[in-house]
Amino acid sequence: MPTVVITGANRGIGLEFARQYAADGWTVIATCRDLSSPGGLATVAGVELFALSVDDPASIKAFAGALKGRSIDLLINNAGIMGPDLAAQSKDGIDPEGWLETLKVNGLAPILVSLALRPLLSAGAKVATVSSQLGSITETESGGMYAYRASKAAINMGNRTLAADWRDDGITCIVMHPGWVQTDMGGPKAPVTPPDSVAGMRRVIAAAGPGDSGAFFAYDGRRIPW
Ligand code: NDP
Repeated sequence: MPTVVITGANRGIGLEFARQYAADGWTVIATCRDLSSPGGLATVAGVELFALSVDDPASIKAFAGALKGRSIDLLINNAGIMGPDLAAQSKDGIDPEGWLETLKVNGLAPILVSLALRPLLSAGAKVATVSSQLGSITETESGGMYAYRASKAAINMGNRTLAADWRDDGITCIVMHPGWVQTDMGGPKAPVTPPDSVAGMRRVIAAAGPGDSGAFFAYDGRRIPW
């Protein structure tokens, strides 16, 4: 069976990815920041658990080293943060350090993780990075969430560049909007459940081929404009 690596898999959307791929018999390599706090992963049978803090280059290096010799068919860069309190990323106040931390986790880390794992990606592998519609410049009409929006716009460009760099290697790199999802980040009023969001993104990933590399999809398959 294929092997999937999922970052930030101890809760939320990442945990649901781990559940669904494990249920389908995939080899699941799930990561969380702290192995002593695996969250919901403790209840998912057959998952291999590794420590990874995506904002720490030493942790990324150690994770890639621990996987040496493995072959990865799918990397899901899921870990992400909303960033500073909304009041501290609004027109009424910006927390500069918080903005940079958000950019580090959401905008930079998926590229660093992808590059570190490149030697382990199998021929025809896919990299699917969880972005957000809030990173779409075209679809931005409301204000606020400056740091989060900027970080997701950054990863959209980062992924587009990675897709171009790896085109000749046959590796498909896409970014996905999961919908507004009921997680700690999305809150209880979100209309989409984690199982529906992840089932949709899994369909998008399965259907994505080299011709889609660099593209931005919603969980329902819609192409999102930049
Ligand atoms: P959650 O807040 O529920 O979960 C976030 C996950 O990311 C946790 O496992 C968290 O680990 C992990 N994480 C955060 N920072 C780091 C880090 N530095 N290193 C390693 N892991 C980290 O969020 P969701 O599940 O809702 O979000 C998953 C992805 O989907 C994110 O990229 C988010 O931006 C995106 N998204 C979510 C939407 C929604 O409506 N929920 C909408 C659009 C996009 P820990 O428990 O240790 O903090």
